[in-house]
Amino acid sequence: MAKRDYYEVLGVNKDADEGVIKKAYRKLALKYHPDRNPDDKEAEEKFKEAAEAYEILSDSQKRARYDRYGHAGVSGNSGGGGFSGGGMTMEDIFQQFGDIFGDGGSPFDSFFGGGAGRGRARSAGQRGSNLRIKVALTLEEIASGVTKKIKVKKEVTCTSCNGSGAKDSSSVKTCTTCRGAGYVRQVKNTFLGQMQTTVTCPTCNGSGQQVTAKCTTCGGDGRMQGEETMEIEIPAGVEEGMQLSLRGKGNAGAKGGPAGDLLINIEEKPHDHLQRDGMNLVHELYLNFADAALGTSVEVPTIDGRVKIKVPAGTQSGKIFRLKGKGLPSVQSYGKGDQLIHVNVWTPKKLSDEDREVLEKIRQMPNFNPQPGKSEKGFFEKMKDYFK
Ligand SMILES: [Zn+2]
Ligand SMILES: [Zn+2]
Repeated sequence: MAKRDYYEVLGVNKDADEGVIKKAYRKLALKYHPDRNPDDKEAEEKFKEAAEAYEILSDSQKRARYDRYGHAGVSGNSGGGGFSGGGMTMEDIFQQFGDIFGDGGSPFDSFFGGGAGRGRARSAGQRGSNLRIKVALTLEEIASGVTKKIKVKKEVTCTSCNGSGAKDSSSVKTCTTCRGAGYVRQVKNTFLGQMQTTVTCPTCNGSGQQVTAKCTTCGGDGRMQGEETMEIEIPAGVEEGMQLSLRGKGNAGAKGGPAGDLLINIEEKPHDHLQRDGMNLVHELYLNFADAALGTSVEVPTIDGRVKIKVPAGTQSGKIFRLKGKGLPSVQSYGKGDQLIHVNVWTPKKLSDEDREVLEKIRQMPNFNPQPGKSEKGFFEKMKDYFK
C-alpha cells in the first residue's frame, strides 16, 4: 500500500527541471504503454504510476506541495485541493498527457498507429462510486501514526463472471458494430473540409464485445455485494475533519470498470488528561495552594508517559509551563508541537473547623495580600504567550 516516491518512480533527482521530468516520463510511458504490453497488469500499473508522478511533478504548485508534505500533501483534501485523483483511467491519462507522446501535440493515436481505441477497450465499464468511512483515533495514535485494519462492506467485482457481466465465455461475442475495435470512425463535414474523428462505439460502449446472456449472479452488472479487509496507514499528526483518500479502494466499477476511491474521514477520540490545540497539547494541572506557594515537583501525563516537572515557589494560578516537543507532529511538515501545562491553584470547597482556623490566621498575615508586580503577567499577555 505504501506509495513510491514520485521522483523514484520517474528515476529523476529531486532538483530535476521540467525538461528532465518530461523526458523521463515520456520514456516510461512509451515503455509501459498498454499497446506494447497487451494484457500486462504490471505494465499497466507502472504506466499509471508514472502518469500520477508526472501529474504532480510537472505542475510547479503540486510539486512544491509534494516536496514539502509528501504524498499527504497531494492526496485527499487536507491542504485544500490536492491531487485530482479520481482513479485515473487510461483514457484520462491519454487525454491529459497525450501531447507528451508526439512533438507539437500530434494526436496520440498517430504516434502509436491507432491505439486510442484499444486503450479504451480495456476499461469500458463505468467507474465505481466512492466509499466513505470514518476512523476514530486516540491522541496516542495520532501522535505516532497508526495502521488500522478495517473491514468495509462494498460492491466488489462479481466472482461468477469476473466483472464481465456475461453468463459464460460462450455468451460473449465480438461487437458487430465496431468489429471488436471499441470505437468507430465518423466523417464530419466542417468548413475546413471533411474531418475524420474516432468515437467510442455506441453499441458496446467501447468494450468491443457484446454479451448475449447475462451473468445470473450479478444480472450483467459485473458487481456484487461483498466486503474487504484492508490495512490503512494513517500518518502521524492528522486531525479531526481531515480526509484521506485511497484510490481504487472504493466500490467496484460496473462491467469491469475501475473502482472508486475509499475516502477516510478522521475523527478524534477525547483524551482523559490532554486536550489538543493544533499541534500543542494542553494539560490542566491543579495545585494545592501550599504547593504553589512553597514549590514542589509533580508528575504530569504526556502523550508518551508521565514526566516530572518542578513547580517553583510562588507559582501563580494561570501560569503556563511548556514542555518543548511533547506535542503532536505536523502531518504537513517537520517538527512537533509542545505540551502546555496550565496551572490552576485549587481552592478547597468544604472546610473543617481546623482548616478554618489555619485560614483565619493566614488572612491576618499581610504577606498573603495580593501584591501583583511586573512579573505577574495579565490575562492578555498570558494568552499571547500561550499562542506563541
Ligand atoms: Zn456476474
Ligand atoms: Zn462495438
